[in-house]
Amino acid sequence: MEHAEEFRKYGHQMVDWISDYFKNIEKYPVKSNLEPGQVFRQIPENPPEKPETADRLLADFEKIILPGMTHWQSPNFYAYFPANSSYPSVLGEMLTAAMGAQCMKWETSPAATELEEAVMNWLRKMTGLPENFTGVIQDGASTATLCAILTAREKYTAFRANHEGMNRQPAMRVYCSAEAHSSVEKAVKIAGIGKDNLVKIPVDEVFSLIPEKLEEAIIRDLQSGYKPLCTVAAMGTTSSTAVDPLEDIGLICSRYSIWLHVDAAFSGSALILPEYRWMLTGIERVDSFVFNPHKWLFTNFDCSAYYVKDTEALINTFKLVPEYLKSQLHEHVNDFSNWGIQLGRRFRALKLWFVLRSFGLNEIQKRLRGHIHFASLLKQWIDLEKNFEILAPVTFNLVCFRFHPEEINNEEDLDRLNETLLKEINRTGKMYLSHTRLAGKYTLRMVVAQTYVEEQHVHKAWKIIYAKSEEMYQNFIKNE
Ligand SMILES: *Cc1c(COP(=O)(O)O)cnc(C)c1O
Repeated sequence: MEHAEEFRKYGHQMVDWISDYFKNIEKYPVKSNLEPGQVFRQIPENPPEKPETADRLLADFEKIILPGMTHWQSPNFYAYFPANSSYPSVLGEMLTAAMGAQCMKWETSPAATELEEAVMNWLRKMTGLPENFTGVIQDGASTATLCAILTAREKYTAFRANHEGMNRQPAMRVYCSAEAHSSVEKAVKIAGIGKDNLVKIPVDEVFSLIPEKLEEAIIRDLQSGYKPLCTVAAMGTTSSTAVDPLEDIGLICSRYSIWLHVDAAFSGSALILPEYRWMLTGIERVDSFVFNPHKWLFTNFDCSAYYVKDTEALINTFKLVPEYLKSQLHEHVNDFSNWGIQLGRRFRALKLWFVLRSFGLNEIQKRLRGHIHFASLLKQWIDLEKNFEILAPVTFNLVCFRFHPEEINNEEDLDRLNETLLKEINRTGKMYLSHTRLAGKYTLRMVVAQTYVEEQHVHKAWKIIYAKSEEMYQNFIKNE
C-alpha cells in the first residue's frame, strides 16, 4: 500500500469492518478457546519478500487472528477487570496512530503536552482529588506505582540513591496489605528495595488493611534499624475491590514521614460519583494516586492517570537532559518524559479528551451508576439462592461469590466444584468470568463494567451460571 487513495479505500473498508465488529460482537465466543501454538503454526516462518495486498492482510486477520482473540469489548466479558473502550476512544486512537507523534517533550508536539495537562486537570476535578495534585498519563498503574516508590526512595535519600546506588542506604521497607496488587512487589524488586522488604499487613474480615497492624510493623522495623519508606494503600483491591482505611493509614504515614501512595487502578473511576467521595476522606495526607481510565472509564488501553503532590521530587527522580534533547524552552514547559520511565511517549490524551467530551460528565455518571446497579441486582439474585454465597462486600460493581450446595462442606470439594463450574461457564463462549482466592476459598469474580453492558446481559449471564450449577448439582446427587 503506497498511495493515499489506496489507503483511503482500505481505510473505509476497515472502519466498516470495525463497525460491524462492534455490532456483532456478541456472536463471537467471548473467550478464545484456542490451544497453545495454534496461531503461531499458521504464521509463515519467514517474512514476505514481496508486497502483499491489503485484501490478503484483512482475510488472514479474520482467518488466523480473530479466532485467537478474547473479546474484551463484549458486554458478556465479566473477567478480571475490564480494559474497556468506546466509539469515541477508538476514533481518538485512530488519529493518534495517523499522526504517529512521539510526544516526549513539549517541543515535539506542544498540543500533546498541553492537552495532557488540561485533561488531567479535568479528571482531577471530576474525581474530587485535591487541587495540589498534578497529573501525568502513564502506561499503566504498575508503572505509576513504580514511579511513586522510586520518587519516595529519592526524596527520602535526598536523591542520593540515584547517584550512589543503594549500597550505602539502610534497608528500606515498603508496606501494603496482603490483598494489594502484585505490581507493588514488582516495583520494590525493580527499585532495588528487594521483595524481602515488602511488608504485607494483615487484612480484616472485609479484606481491608488493619491500620494497627501497619503501625506495629513500622515500629518493629524502626527498632530493627530499617527505613520505613512508603505505604501503598488500595482503593479497591483486585480480588474483591476492598478499600483500605485511608484516613487512619494517612495519620500513621505522616507520623513516621512515610510516602503514601494510593492504588485505585480500577475503583478510582467511582470517585466521579459524589456518592463515592467518602473514599477520599484522608486524601490530604496522600502523596500520590493512580487510577486507570483504561479500566473503567471507556478509554482504550493504555491510559493510566497518575497524580502526585510533589512534582519537583518526581521530576528530580527521572530528569535527564542529554545534549541532543536540550531546547531553549525547557525551563518554562513540561517535558513529560521527565515525569516517568518512558522517554518516547504516545499521545494518549487525545482519546481521553474524545471520551470525556463525547460522553460528558452526566452520561459517564449514568453509565457508572448503571454498572453498579446491575452488579447489585446480580448480588440480589445470588442472595436468593440457597446454593450460592457471596464472599465479599459488593462495594462497586464486582461480585465475588461461589456455588455452595448445602450438602457439601469440605473446602477442597467446594474449591474443585467452583473451578469446574468456572470452566464450564467459560466453555459456553457466551460469557467470561475469572476467579480469585478470598480467605483461602476459590472465588468466582464477576465484574460488570463493560462500556455498553445492559441489565439484560447480566441477567442472561446469571441464568447461564445458574443452569450450569444446576447441571453439576444433579450430577453430584446422582453420584452420591
Ligand atoms: C489492574 C490493577 C493494577 C495493574 O494495572 P496496570 O495498569 O495493568 O499496570 C494495579 N493495581 C490494581 C488494584 C489493579 O486492579
